[in-house]
Amino acid sequence: MTVKLDEKLEPIFQDVLHRNPGESEFHQAVHEVLETLGPVLVKYPEFADKKIIQRICEPERQIIFRVPWQDDSGEIHINRAFRVEFNSALGPYKGGMRFHPSVYLGIIKFLGFEQIFKNALTGLPIGGGKGGSDFDPKGRSDDEIMRFCQSLMTELYRHLGEYTDVPAGDIGVGGREIGYLFGQYKRITNRYESGVLTGKGLEWGGSRARTEATGYGTVFFTHEMLKARGDSLDGKTVVVSGSGNVAIYAIEKAHELGAKVIACSDSSGIIVHEKGLDLQTLRRIKEVERRRISAYTEFHKDAKYVEGGNIWNVPCDVALPCATQNELNGKDARTLVENGCIAVAEGANMPTTPEGIDIFQNARLAYGPGKAANAGGVATSALEMQQNASRDSWSFDYTQKRLEEIMIEIHKNCHETAAEFGAEGNYVLGANINGFLRVARAMNAMGVI
Ligand code: NAP
Repeated sequence: MTVKLDEKLEPIFQDVLHRNPGESEFHQAVHEVLETLGPVLVKYPEFADKKIIQRICEPERQIIFRVPWQDDSGEIHINRAFRVEFNSALGPYKGGMRFHPSVYLGIIKFLGFEQIFKNALTGLPIGGGKGGSDFDPKGRSDDEIMRFCQSLMTELYRHLGEYTDVPAGDIGVGGREIGYLFGQYKRITNRYESGVLTGKGLEWGGSRARTEATGYGTVFFTHEMLKARGDSLDGKTVVVSGSGNVAIYAIEKAHELGAKVIACSDSSGIIVHEKGLDLQTLRRIKEVERRRISAYTEFHKDAKYVEGGNIWNVPCDVALPCATQNELNGKDARTLVENGCIAVAEGANMPTTPEGIDIFQNARLAYGPGKAANAGGVATSALEMQQNASRDSWSFDYTQKRLEEIMIEIHKNCHETAAEFGAEGNYVLGANINGFLRVARAMNAMGVI
């Protein structure tokens, strides 16, 4: 943490450290928000009196449970799963489930905390939550994934509901996993409650454009940041980290808006294709065959695969981190700035370390933090809930148009809030304060609960 906190906020942060030992990602996420809230307490002292910040930092409910399951050979495995229901001031808890071996309470709490402000920024009636498990889906058969999802939902179902808590996907949880989770929920509850999960298949309550939404939204946000500087994405060279759901659709939309995406990655290495990445090949490898990104060179001999390579060393105009937390550090940020990068927008959650953020801010490049730039995913999840509630199904074009309007509005709100608080162009401050004020006003109105 490189920035010193305001004297009213430092004791709150110390208390968070004390109450949540060992949860470094959660500490980092809280610090990043508190860094920007000093001026808010000056302007709105009632939020300090009502201890709104202390209350926001404490989840309303945290659920931790055992998930036993059997693999294809009959061996029994035991995983741990979490659901952190962080804040319901604006609506039912809403946020994805992550399946990755690195998952522990601190990761889920950081993600849930970020989700509160992100969801508020969308302007839609959704609270913040997040969940996941330390289960590693890599190399598991379809049947194993199904048994794991069924076992997890056998406990989780009692905490969910379309008015209570509505999970979706995240790392390691895509359409296949949502299908197995929804099937088990339906079976146990004997209710076809479409609005209980989002990211569903189109034939059974899903929304068009939800799969694409996070990646598309990140690129819409990037485009808005560039427009605010009298520029555009047209003709820009882009690199995108990751090659999962967010990355693939960020690449697609960047190409559509006239940019050339020349590199992407997975946790093993990077692909550089100077001619521009071929999206069809990527989708085939990742979405159909579920293989490693290294397979790309089988289809494109002029592309280069670098095992263990660092994607931020590839010179670009625009960088879109779309893989995971803390994947872009201070050194990487310096390299990007030195190579002439003009914009960074985060498709992933908290991918840039605090030192990296400082470097971007000091270099005055357009830097869009995840809670604003990747809010298109959860916004479209809320649109899915709207369609479920009205038993309706919107067209792709209409849904995409709504997504684009929401991203434009989020950009405008962050931009205006930053200017109002004397920090023009600082989207970190704009996003944190705008999101915070929406939640704080609702909490204040509802009394001490
Ligand atoms: P995903 O489909 O599972 O893809 C994740 C990608 O990131 C994979 O290519 C993965 O490579 C890579 N990755 C994961 N851990 C990595 C590491 N330690 N180092 C390098 N690469 C790594 O997940 P996703 O849904 O695209 O999510 C990506 C990010 O976006 C996450 O931060 C997530 O929280 C955020 N996000 C997602 C959504 C959504 O709607 N899905 C919405 C908002 C934000 P491997 O295959 O090698 O692991």
